[in-house]
Amino acid sequence: MYPTKVEVTEVGTRDGFQNEKIFIPTEKKIDLINKIVASGVRRIEATAFVSPRAVPQLVDASEVIAGINRVPSLRIACLVPNHQGLARAIAAEVDEVVAFCSVTESHNQTNLNRSIEESIEGFESIMKSAEKTHIAVHGALAVAFGCPFEGDVDPSHVASLVNQLYAIGIRNITLGDTTGMATPPLVDRVVKTIQDKMPDVKISLHFHNTRGIGLVNVLAGLSAGISRYESSIGGIGGCPFAPGASGNICSEDLVYMLGEYGIDTGVDLLSLMHCAHQLQGILGRALPGQVMKAGLRTRTFPLSAVKRATR
Ligand code: ZN
Repeated sequence: MYPTKVEVTEVGTRDGFQNEKIFIPTEKKIDLINKIVASGVRRIEATAFVSPRAVPQLVDASEVIAGINRVPSLRIACLVPNHQGLARAIAAEVDEVVAFCSVTESHNQTNLNRSIEESIEGFESIMKSAEKTHIAVHGALAVAFGCPFEGDVDPSHVASLVNQLYAIGIRNITLGDTTGMATPPLVDRVVKTIQDKMPDVKISLHFHNTRGIGLVNVLAGLSAGISRYESSIGGIGGCPFAPGASGNICSEDLVYMLGEYGIDTGVDLLSLMHCAHQLQGILGRALPGQVMKAGLRTRTFPLSAVKRATR
């Protein structure tokens, strides 16, 4: 009943890195991205073309993109908030730009300093400019499963925004659980409300593990037939409204779980775990990822290594 294939989009070097206060050297970002790509990931939201004043960590977006090995079938996506960002993304020759807004006015105003209507007008003009290039436009809706300012969001309101993006030609749309408010029944409701109205929209799900049920939400998405998920290496990322909370769902943990269901992700788990350890070395602290700590479930230990067995 689950899809047989799932596409995992790595977002750690964007969603995770934007929360990192200490600047990560550009060559370390590039090396990590190339190793993630070498592990088999074929879509990566590598960085964002946002104001360097707002997010100094991502000031090197163009250099990062220029350093990525363009292996066949790899799609490099970048977040763009406006036309300046789009122009930089076009110059960097990314494959996709991600245009985003929130599903609530208060979150959109706080995050982007404009109304939802103004954001959607911006999407339209981004679509027009991107049409002249070979760059695809992917839409992303933040706080789709709940808003830290407005609480619960009506699924039919989310569907109506998806419909507005659809009307301007956007077919690939991410539903972002920005502050980790999604639950499995809610995922089911939101996804089905959209599918009922627009069966040909390609939905991606972007969960945060803020309340510890990120991977359970993935199972709810799989049950609803969704085969695209966004995750971050080592589970990095954060939630501005839940201090100390875990970040995005963790890429290695996701690939591990999907693999146990026999779902093909095309990603080599051990290679991805190496990437998580490399990132842990870069950031110099323990990361939230679990499989990177425990190892594969079939990992065994020599009895002689144990002083006294637990009984
Ligand atoms: Zn996120």
